[in-house]
Amino acid sequence: MELAYSEQYRALQGEVRAFIAKYGHLSPKPGGGRQRPSKKALDWQKLLLEHGYFARNIPAEYGGFGLPLDVLELAVIAEEIAKGGVYPGIMNQGISMLVPTLLEVGTKEQCAQWIERTIRGEVIWCQGYSEPESGSDLAAARTKADVVDGHFVINGQKIWTSSAHYSDMMFLLCRTEPDQPKHKGLSYLLVPMNAPGIEVRPLVTMTGRATFNETFFTNVRVPTDQIVMGRGEGWHVANVTLKYERLLLGDANRLSARLARIRELMERTNLDGQRVMDIPEYRDRLMRLQGEVMASKYHGLRLLTEQARGEDSGLKRLIVKYNGTLLGYRLSSLAVDVLGAAGLAYDAKDEAAETDEATAWHIDNMYDIGLMIGGGSTNIQKNIIAERGLGLPREPKTAPATRS
Ligand SMILES: Cc1cc2nc3c(=O)[nH]c(=O)nc-3n(C[C@H](O)[C@H](O)[C@H](O)COP(=O)(O)OP(=O)(O)OC[C@H]3O[C@@H](n4cnc5c(N)ncnc54)[C@H](O)[C@@H]3O)c2cc1C
Repeated sequence: MELAYSEQYRALQGEVRAFIAKYGHLSPKPGGGRQRPSKKALDWQKLLLEHGYFARNIPAEYGGFGLPLDVLELAVIAEEIAKGGVYPGIMNQGISMLVPTLLEVGTKEQCAQWIERTIRGEVIWCQGYSEPESGSDLAAARTKADVVDGHFVINGQKIWTSSAHYSDMMFLLCRTEPDQPKHKGLSYLLVPMNAPGIEVRPLVTMTGRATFNETFFTNVRVPTDQIVMGRGEGWHVANVTLKYERLLLGDANRLSARLARIRELMERTNLDGQRVMDIPEYRDRLMRLQGEVMASKYHGLRLLTEQARGEDSGLKRLIVKYNGTLLGYRLSSLAVDVLGAAGLAYDAKDEAAETDEATAWHIDNMYDIGLMIGGGSTNIQKNIIAERGLGLPREPKTAPATRS
């Protein structure tokens, strides 16, 4: 078996390396995030877009690089970016979830209106799905939108809305057809966050920071053309987005980049007078994780290959989110164990605290626990894989509570 890249891909490898050698000093630090992109991140994003190292396969008319999908090219770019230790580009709900959704089911006008500004990091989106009574059972959403005078008028409440406090737009799942069965009564709307009647109340997590929010809607008006697909088709659109969310949450390229950072951290950190990389317990953990990251990477390449062939990967995609978020947490836990107490005493109000490497790892590690819940909890993913993928018996329903 020939495992080396062919000449074409070695040439691309050289091209990306030359790019990093020339511009690498302009890159923001990888990791962190969870805030509006800085000027440095926006400038770096522009460079990546111009060179085709981001949005490589998005049509040029929507601001992408316009090349056909080539799985190996993407793998080479991701590998070199990870090795070079530079920022792989802005990753947020708009770029990773809304953009592919619009490309798959949006109109040409919607793609032209939103994609370019979103991939440039200029328009930030949040996801309005979960409600206090509807998380895992998403189709039970009760936030409603009535049509009045050519507008949807939205009333209700969303919760756990990540980044709503600095977003420009929301993709919202709401009930527009109350007389239809629950899955058929939903619509997917694009809502400006500065519309009158939207109130965002931050929720503080164990990081000491507010990364998500409660979002309240009181008579919020949105023109009726701000809908993706038709009325009552929101459940289908929401699931297209969820498909991409789950791929984002377990993205193997991010895991590889993380692994490279930990390897480098272990090489330059000493514990009790010994280089961490030379301590068997730590090295074994790293090697086990490395094997698992490689397996994730190859699984991701298989999915991309299927996508390029126009095949539906079905439930195989769910493994990415399930496995990737668990793996992400184990990776950051290793970094935290290497760092010990360093970086723990940060000021949560200090937006720049994450520029400290150790602090960024601690915050990432806490956030990683949330990622096992966000986008559909680990329990739910496991049940879907087991029941629909492997054909195992259905999870028994819990017995109703009885009184003695
Ligand atoms: C960090 C983070 C970011 C998030 N960002 C967003 C966002 O941007 N937008 C958004 O809309 N939502 C967001 N969420 C919400 C997330 O999607 C929900 O928390 C998730 O879907 C679970 O819903 P829930 O919190 O209502 O829990 P519940 O549905 O009440 O579940 C509680 C527990 O019961 C288990 N459970 C529930 N039903 C079943 C079942 N049938 N079988 C087995 N176990 C079950 C679950 O696994 C879980 O452990 C975010 C959450 C987190 C943690």
